[in-house]
Amino acid sequence: MVKVCIDGKSVEVPKGSMLIDAAKEAGVYVPTLCYLELHSKMSGANSSCRICMVEVAGRKNLAAACSTPVVDGMDVKTDTDRVVNARKLMLELLLSDHEQECLTCAKAGKCTLQDLCYENDVKETRYRGIMSSFPQDETNEFYVRDMNKCINCRRCVNACANFQCTEAIDFAGRGFKAHPTPPFDDSINESVCVSCGNCVSVCPTGALLPKTREKYRTWEVSKTRTTCSYCGVGCSMDLLVKGGKVVGVEPADGHANNGLLCVKGRFGYNFINHPDRLKKPLIRKDGDLVEATWDEAYDLIVDKIQKTKAEFGSEALAGLTSARVTNEENYLFQKMVRAGFGTNNIDHCARL
Ligand code: SF4
Ligand code: SF4
Ligand code: SF4
Repeated sequence: MVKVCIDGKSVEVPKGSMLIDAAKEAGVYVPTLCYLELHSKMSGANSSCRICMVEVAGRKNLAAACSTPVVDGMDVKTDTDRVVNARKLMLELLLSDHEQECLTCAKAGKCTLQDLCYENDVKETRYRGIMSSFPQDETNEFYVRDMNKCINCRRCVNACANFQCTEAIDFAGRGFKAHPTPPFDDSINESVCVSCGNCVSVCPTGALLPKTREKYRTWEVSKTRTTCSYCGVGCSMDLLVKGGKVVGVEPADGHANNGLLCVKGRFGYNFINHPDRLKKPLIRKDGDLVEATWDEAYDLIVDKIQKTKAEFGSEALAGLTSARVTNEENYLFQKMVRAGFGTNNIDHCARL
């Protein structure tokens, strides 16, 4: 363990930790734009935004807290005038080449750049970038890429390469022209992107945004933590609900998914409110499927099972269950088939 002092608070952290880990241990907030704890564990810090600069006693230059390893006895300050001025300078430099449209930007209210400018009273910039004009890429079915709002934090590239392991995007260009892109600046739809949306989830600005059917502001939605129903992995997610309707999904940091989702969990929620969705059982009568009550449906199922068993024996029955229900429901189903029907003819769609 290594002992360091952060803003007067003494903490012990494992050797090899970064200053940002020590600050967290000390309960001290160090702002960042590019750093993600999960990323840093997997692939090291991005070290690209320089917002997390701190002052280390005895060192001439400010140090990036996300990528400076702790050394025994370090005395660190996170809120001196020098640190705050450096932070403001970095924000001004970022704004110098950023298309500010906060009034109409869907990210407003949950944009880290906007939050940090607010926290640090940065309203305008003294610098003038070239305001590179990148065409908006709307070719993906589920999300939009607007590199005019990109701050080159590298989070998306890291997520795609190290978590999704698809490597659909990387950086191209120099200076103001630098931007994350598929190879040869092709549209994202021409790349190997699998639309998992993990880049969208980690983007701190409005550069990557989900396509939504309904507009919402972050303060208008309530979040309901749930488990994705598409497969048996059990990824945790938050359903964003506005006016009783699910209007979006965000990944949650669950044991099975660590803040990641696949395309189905991330974007496949429109079935919930779809008008064609079945909400009542249907029973075929005279060749037509007609709505029935659950009691009618269960009575019919039980009647058919009993008659089939009486006439042809247990082996004439079989059960096929689903990856979209819980393990517990699958367990109960096989129990019913084995103990109730009296057969081991039981299978599961995931085997296909
Ligand atoms: S990305 Fe953030 S700072 Fe930029 S326009 Fe959108 S809300 Fe404003
Ligand atoms: S959606 Fe997934 S695969 Fe496509 S670029 Fe983003 S992280 Fe990579
Ligand atoms: S698109 Fe978003 S996540 Fe990717 S580098 Fe730009 S700001 Fe960062």
